[in-house]
Amino acid sequence: MLPFFTDAFGNAASRTHAAGREAERACEEARAKVAALIGADESEIVFTSGATESDNLAILGSRPEHIVTIATEHPAVLESARAAGCRLTVLPVDGHGLVDPDAMARAITSKGTLVSVMAANNEVGTVQPIREVGRLCEERGAIFHTDAAQAAGKIELDVRADHVHLLSMSAHKMYGPKGVGALYVRKRGPRVKLSPLIRGGGHENGLRSGTLPVPQVVGFGRAAEIAAKERPDESKRVLALRERLRSGLFERLDLITLNGHPERRLPGNLHVSFAYVEVESLLQAMPEICVSTSAACASAVLKPSHVLKAMGVSDELAYNSVRFGIGRFNTPAEIDITLDRVVAAAKHIREQSPAWALRK
Ligand SMILES: *Cc1c(COP(=O)(O)O)cnc(C)c1O
Repeated sequence: MLPFFTDAFGNAASRTHAAGREAERACEEARAKVAALIGADESEIVFTSGATESDNLAILGSRPEHIVTIATEHPAVLESARAAGCRLTVLPVDGHGLVDPDAMARAITSKGTLVSVMAANNEVGTVQPIREVGRLCEERGAIFHTDAAQAAGKIELDVRADHVHLLSMSAHKMYGPKGVGALYVRKRGPRVKLSPLIRGGGHENGLRSGTLPVPQVVGFGRAAEIAAKERPDESKRVLALRERLRSGLFERLDLITLNGHPERRLPGNLHVSFAYVEVESLLQAMPEICVSTSAACASAVLKPSHVLKAMGVSDELAYNSVRFGIGRFNTPAEIDITLDRVVAAAKHIREQSPAWALRK
């Protein structure tokens, strides 16, 4: 990214000089790398400011008559769907956070329907059967959008095999820079028509005007390239670390529960509820362990997570839950330190708790 902040400062939309063409070339290379990660053609990638914007563009820009989505979506999808002002069906999920494809099939009643089902959940990591949902949409002539901010670079995605029409991505969820993302917009079989949310000079095929942030776009491309190359090994390594943490916690602590699906989940996601453990005290006891109580964007809000609620988790346990995110740079030693810290802190908090003494 660095040269594009200084020496290579051209505007990717300025084709009249060498500096502009160099910036354009770098952005087009990045576009091809992002496209390759999801099996798309580079002409089908629209750069945005991130997955929030991509979700807004997909949902509002497709001007649907009816939106069918699920209760555990990211607010960027749920709030866009509410703002669209059309008929809205929000389907429930099961106790593991999975959508029911039969209920989905029944909900798609007309061709002007936009279905939005996330590829993987950002809190509990549940991986949805998007290929099945995509096939349903194709049969019924509905447009299928998937928010793949969590899934891209972590699990296999192929927009053609998965029958996806629109797909949202975010660079910073795959170790790229913050403030850039993309929307895949299918060009053929069928060609998806969108209207822009941001109008102006007509950049990005008229779908997203504004000068491209060249350094961010270049960083996104490199992140996508690395993710594609590393994913087979990385997902195995991250999964092994996750399982080390999961089995350690469940061996050493009673009355804890796993949230989300036991197998159909992102390799790096572990989401656990701790009965009789006030989670704020837990986090305070181990400030060097960077974990979250819910979605990063909702941690400041004192409300039980809508995702856990939709899965039927009680308010009490929803408050007392922690999301452990394990990634590319974590080590077995860090997992062991985390285990020791969490187990010690949870036991200590329970010993101080009158409710724990009175349990049963
Ligand atoms: C992070 C995230 C978003 C928002 O992405 P930004 O790039 O921060 O706008 C949307 N959906 C899901 C599932 C996410 O995890």
